[in-house]
Amino acid sequence: MNAAADAVDREADRLTELDSPIGDADHGTNLRRGFTAVRQGLRDDQPSGPGPVLLLSGRLLVSKVGGASGPLYGTLLRRAGKALGDESAADGRQVAAALRIGVEAVGQLGGAVEGDKTMLDALFPALTALEEALESGEDLADALAAAGRAAAEGATATVPLRARRGRASYLGERSVGHEDPGAASSVLLVTALAEAVG
Ligand code: ADP
Ligand code: MG
Ligand code: MG
Repeated sequence: MNAAADAVDREADRLTELDSPIGDADHGTNLRRGFTAVRQGLRDDQPSGPGPVLLLSGRLLVSKVGGASGPLYGTLLRRAGKALGDESAADGRQVAAALRIGVEAVGQLGGAVEGDKTMLDALFPALTALEEALESGEDLADALAAAGRAAAEGATATVPLRARRGRASYLGERSVGHEDPGAASSVLLVTALAEAVG
C-alpha cells in the first residue's frame, strides 16, 4: 500500500490531466487524498497481515475519496482483504483468488464490464495474466510482473474505446481518443503490488 501511495503521489498530476478531457480533472487529487489517508492509517493502526491491511485501506479509500474511484477501489481492497482473512501470509493462489473477488466486486458495484473504458479494462487483463502465469508455474513475483504489463496494455487499449460507464460516458463519442484515468491508476496499483512482492 505504501508503494501504491508513492506511485499515486508521483503520478497524481498525470492522472488528473487524463481526467481533464473526459472527466472533471480530479482523479489524481482524489487518489492522492485517499492514499495519504491510507499511509497514515496504516502507520497509526499497524494492522498485521495482508487481509487486515487491505480491509483498513479499503475502508479509508471509501471514506476519504469523494469521486467514483474511492468506493470502487475501496470495495476492491475490502473484498480482497476479507477473502484473505486473518492469515499472517498469503501464497500466490490465495492472492489471485482474493484479487478476483475484489475485481469482480468492482464490476458488480459499478455495473461496468470489460470494454466500457474503465479501470476494469486494466484490472481484468491483469488478473487474467496473473492467473495464467501462476497456472503455468511462475512464482508470484514473476506472475505479478506479467500482470503489471497486462494492465498497462489494457490501459493503452482504452484510448480508442467509447466510455459506457462513469463521468466519461456523458461525452459519448467524444470520449474516444483518450486514455481512461482509472485504467491508468490501476496500472500504478498493480505495478506497486508487483514491486512490493518482487
Ligand atoms: P469521478 O469520476 O467521480 O470524478 P474519479 O475521477 O476519481 O471519479 O475516477 C474516475 C474513474 O473511475 C474513471 O476513469 C473510471 O476508470 C472509474 N469509473 C467510474 N465509473 C466507473 C464504473 N461504473 N465502473 C468502473 N469504473 C468506473
Ligand atoms: Mg474525476
Ligand atoms: Mg469527481
